[in-house]
Amino acid sequence: MKVGVARETAPGERRVALVPEALGRLTAAGLEILVEAGAGAGALIPDQAFVDAGARIVSSVELYAQSDVILRIQKPSESEIKVMRSGQALIAFLSPLIDPKSAQALAQQGVTAISLDAIPRTLSRAQSMDALSSQANVGGYKAVLIAANAFGRYFPLLTTAAGTAKPANVLILGIGVAGLQAIGTARRLGAVVKAYDVRSETKEQAQSLGAQFLVLKSVADASGEGGYARQLTPEEQAAQQQELNGHIASMDVVITTAQVPGRRPPLLVTAVAVAAMRPGSVIVDMAASALGGNVELSKAGETIVTDNGVTIIAPDNLPASMPVGASAFYARNISALLLEFVKDGELNLDFEDEVTRSTVITHDGAVVQEATKTLLEPEAAAAGTTSGGAA
Ligand code: NAD
Repeated sequence: MKVGVARETAPGERRVALVPEALGRLTAAGLEILVEAGAGAGALIPDQAFVDAGARIVSSVELYAQSDVILRIQKPSESEIKVMRSGQALIAFLSPLIDPKSAQALAQQGVTAISLDAIPRTLSRAQSMDALSSQANVGGYKAVLIAANAFGRYFPLLTTAAGTAKPANVLILGIGVAGLQAIGTARRLGAVVKAYDVRSETKEQAQSLGAQFLVLKSVADASGEGGYARQLTPEEQAAQQQELNGHIASMDVVITTAQVPGRRPPLLVTAVAVAAMRPGSVIVDMAASALGGNVELSKAGETIVTDNGVTIIAPDNLPASMPVGASAFYARNISALLLEFVKDGELNLDFEDEVTRSTVITHDGAVVQEATKTLLEPEAAAAGTTSGGAA
């Protein structure tokens, strides 16, 4: 079976789905690896390194014509979907719940589309495949470095002959995978770190990394399904914002990472809160996207400085800004998922299996994953002919 590694074409995407170090496990399983010329360039991996690891370099046309399975980071563009062929499989971050139409296009093309962001994350067998976590980890780390870079003072306490520098006060909002990494990174840089999340189980996790957990009196625990948070009611949200305002005003740096699956990210830092911050303070909104972010004033992909001197950064695709490390982790995740499906050198999908059922979005010309199907067929869902399911 031929496995092709595509060159990413999305603007600013510098990662690559496989790195040479990951090839050994795949070739040992009887897979032949094709790599599109220049696929590793953004991550500073020359074609020759893939060749030395046992791959064959091919053109884009050859890759799409010859591969049985195509590995990518980002979903293919409309024109790339059109050159894919029936029976071909694709593994990537497909975000079918945000973009079900692309899933539909892949189904119409006859492609078996497998989405890494649909991995059942609490299944221990699937942890090695959890690319959402590995990439969120990179994001949390980079968010702190970006904040430190934009901050005009030191993060650590410094006592020098020229005077003493106070440590920076950093607040991390949202203590999932990215938030935990942000806490650890800010602590390693010497900052005094506070952290907050609506899931009370995160208190101990934050404290174990050296952060002080912020307890809000106005909001009760809001743990949802599968380890995620539930969306707050409008009243809870207003109370949360109000109480957070008081804490945010005294912070030098705020890093926001809060997400609720399938929803617009919660608004945690209002314009009122920003207005009360000191000049020179920095906010990094990791949740910012076209859907909005955690910070009222943030603009996805941009850095702005407010009239009162607060820098608000809403970085786009943080993992792509650390392409070498991020690709190495992603390669391990995607290899583990691919090998999960390979039996005797061929793709063998067992829909009784939880990983298969959750991650295979399209197969045999149809959208098969229940959650995506439900989004595409709201009438059928309302009539009870689709049942909803794993995201
Ligand atoms: P995420 O990106 O969905 O959200 C980030 C954080 O934002 C979450 O901790 C969430 O509780 C928080 N949040 C949401 N709304 C908020 C609000 N209004 N105010 C404050 N915080 C808010 O989360 P994630 O990083 O993808 O992780 C989600 C969960 O999955 C976590 O429980 C994590 O431990 C779990 N997880 C488990 C495994 C595993 O078991 N192997 C692997 C990865 C993640």
